[in-house]
Amino acid sequence: MTVDIVVLGAGYGGTAAIRSLQSELGSREDVSLTWVSKEDYHFVLHESHRLIRDASVEAEVTVPVEEIRSSGTEFVQGEITGLDVDARTVSLADGSEIDYDVVVVCLGSRTAFFGIDGLEEHALTLKSLDDAMAINEEVRAAADEASENEPAQAIVGGSGLTGIQTAGEIAAHRTEQEIPMDVHLVEQADGIFPGHDHEFQGSIRNKLEDHDVEIRTSTTISDVEESTVHTEGGDEMDFDVLIWAGGVSGQRALESADLPKDHNRIYTGATLETDEDRVFALGDGALMGQNEEDSPLSEQAIWEAIVRPDASNQAPPTAEAAMEAGEIVGQNVTRKLKGEELINWTYTDKGTLVSIGDDAVAHGVLGVPVNTFSGSAARTIKKAVSARWFAKISGPGRVIRSWPDM
Ligand SMILES: Cc1cc2nc3c(=O)[nH]c(=O)nc-3n(C[C@H](O)[C@H](O)[C@H](O)COP(=O)(O)OP(=O)(O)OC[C@H]3O[C@@H](n4cnc5c(N)ncnc54)[C@H](O)[C@@H]3O)c2cc1C
Repeated sequence: MTVDIVVLGAGYGGTAAIRSLQSELGSREDVSLTWVSKEDYHFVLHESHRLIRDASVEAEVTVPVEEIRSSGTEFVQGEITGLDVDARTVSLADGSEIDYDVVVVCLGSRTAFFGIDGLEEHALTLKSLDDAMAINEEVRAAADEASENEPAQAIVGGSGLTGIQTAGEIAAHRTEQEIPMDVHLVEQADGIFPGHDHEFQGSIRNKLEDHDVEIRTSTTISDVEESTVHTEGGDEMDFDVLIWAGGVSGQRALESADLPKDHNRIYTGATLETDEDRVFALGDGALMGQNEEDSPLSEQAIWEAIVRPDASNQAPPTAEAAMEAGEIVGQNVTRKLKGEELINWTYTDKGTLVSIGDDAVAHGVLGVPVNTFSGSAARTIKKAVSARWFAKISGPGRVIRSWPDM
């Protein structure tokens, strides 16, 4: 009898999970491995903001699944609409169903709008290739209409990794192309990159200001009309381009899945298994529990614990955490099949790298004695992180092709 293992999603978590399962399972004939995702490529989301300035880097930030999967892994392209953990089926938008014995859910997150009136209708988001291309087009269209007397207005709401890097990229594009355009970064908290190290925050702020990004902290967007943002303080900000990067939530496809979850993000233990036998989850779409005895929590995890006290002691929602967890899940699924005890995964914080246009700021990089730094060292480490990922999922050929554009 064949055991059917199904991995959902081709982001960092899904791709790392497929790679680790392929390596753990080898050529076992009693196991079938199926990979399901909306697109037939892995989108390098942490570099997606670069498409805003230069759409031609598309080939560098999309890795075809054919480059990642081995010949024994079946790939199904489709939109997942549901997961039935009792019947052990995954349903797709075309009406078909895929049966599984073990499922690994890596569907990432979607943007949360917190019920702010008009926001979902009028704002762009950055979660996919199409999203990045839409921002690129809107920025270009706004530039075409702009003049020195009436500069275009670009507003980015939310100053996490997505918001900071998006604002930085638009500002770099504006300067390079000499476009009359003001770039605003709006944040509800009293500082940007909330919850992170103060020195790191200060360094990012300096870089954004060097790029002429106008930062407005302690500013809460209350509602949005077609071309105007209203704030709780009663201010109005007109915009030509509005990008919302203020929050994340789990995927709608998991709404009806009978699993312990919060806003469609699935709770797991440190083994990445959920309460439901044979259902594993990881990445942004999961609330991945950590075993406190195993290691100290990372700075991001502590921040997550502060802003989400109900969800304390969890790994952070980052590409790095999804990759790490994906590498472990292959071992745990294999152990499960053999009836062996599962291993606990503990997130290792290897540092955070943020790009602002062609600049980068690094913080807490493992093995580097300086806490926060920028300049060419930070830029090179950021490139090296992407190169390491490409080498892992594809091979040296892709690293060599992509390096000049990274
Ligand atoms: C602009 C930007 C910059 C960032 N920078 C960094 C950074 O510098 N460092 C860092 O660590 N993190 C960064 N992040 C965060 C990082 O990208 C996420 O933490 C990471 O993508 C999470 O990986 P994941 O596998 O959980 O989800 P994702 O990478 O989002 O993958 C989800 C996958 O599921 C698929 N999927 C979703 N729903 C369905 C469905 N219904 N049917 C079929 N398929 C579906 C998607 O197509 C995708 O393949 C950044 C994010 C953005 C947007």
